[in-house]
Amino acid sequence: MKTKIINISKIITWNQESNSLDILLNKEILVENNIIIGIENNFNSYNCNIVDAEQCILTPGFIDSHTHPIFIGNRSNEFKMRLNGSSYEDINNAGGGILSSIKSLRNASFDQLYKYSLNNIKPFINSGTLTLEAKSGYGLSVKDEIKSLKVIKKINDELTIDILPTFLGAHAVPDGYKTEEYVDLICKEMIPQIAEEKLAVFCDVFCEEGYFDLDQTRKILEISKKYGLLPRGHADEFKSFGASELANEIGALSADHLMVIDDKGVQALSNSDTVATLLPGTTFFLNKNKYANGRRLIDNGCSVALASDFNPGTCTIRSLTNIMYLAMQHCGLTLEESFLGVTYNAAKSLKKEHILGLIKPKYNADILFWDIQELDELPYWFDSSYTKINKIMKNGKIL
Ligand SMILES: [Zn+2]
Repeated sequence: MKTKIINISKIITWNQESNSLDILLNKEILVENNIIIGIENNFNSYNCNIVDAEQCILTPGFIDSHTHPIFIGNRSNEFKMRLNGSSYEDINNAGGGILSSIKSLRNASFDQLYKYSLNNIKPFINSGTLTLEAKSGYGLSVKDEIKSLKVIKKINDELTIDILPTFLGAHAVPDGYKTEEYVDLICKEMIPQIAEEKLAVFCDVFCEEGYFDLDQTRKILEISKKYGLLPRGHADEFKSFGASELANEIGALSADHLMVIDDKGVQALSNSDTVATLLPGTTFFLNKNKYANGRRLIDNGCSVALASDFNPGTCTIRSLTNIMYLAMQHCGLTLEESFLGVTYNAAKSLKKEHILGLIKPKYNADILFWDIQELDELPYWFDSSYTKINKIMKNGKIL
């Protein structure tokens, strides 16, 4: 059955040929099943379902390419500790930080983790995120990483949005292991089992001083590639020591954070297929002042995506219009660049740019209907922009 979307004020989508924003006036969109099959002035001849856009502006559904939503409990006490002057190390030493998320996840049953994580993920939809990358990484044992990834699979089956799972066993080194021993466990047990059960699309590593160094990161991501998991990486967040160069060298789809990326890193990501992904929500949430310099990355020819980094410790923002606002205020991006960052470039970092991130024939009918007059209302309304969403279409169906 075909569906025709009529009465559209403007379609706003990236044009990857001209590398600029397209604003299409007086168009109708024809959808068959879950795919856009045409954009024309009118489709008079068709007998089909009608969706009245009520003069809304239409944009592609947003894509969040970096989230950590599979956890249970919260770490709000750390917020208070930070206000009282505690450092990251103080919080870790007091039993907080990522290790506290690991403890709660390990103690939770599959059902408990599923219910909590489902509630973590559901609100993304209301703010317009229709495709979500979701990482494991708070289990850090074979059993608990597989539990986390199976929770992602169940939530993906349950919800109408698409969730792409990432194995992030290399998020931290759990108690009781030396780093090399844990890297062996990841490479010899976790990756083979996860690949065998088809529980992840991507493999990610927290490549930072005190976590996983360049050799360990290379080893994990090369093995993940052999097992068919596509590499991505956390890079240049605290210390710059070559993580972005490594991401480019091994063909990672994205290098994420990049607050301290140096000239060599920028050069490596420039004109490469590795998408430079900025997560300014984390810098804001932690009240730090060193935002990633997105302007420098774009001016040097990098593809830049934006993502929320939603996680229990360092960022609870889910709304990508909030993230657009921060990227424009603090990372030097224009409105058009930040829009590109949550649509087409985010799709690119998930290797879905052939079907996601644009309103164009042959693309998934993932469409947001906005009660706004101009695109700049998205960052303007930032935290309440969801109130401007009139309708959501996911895979051709109105939610
Ligand atoms: Zn992250």
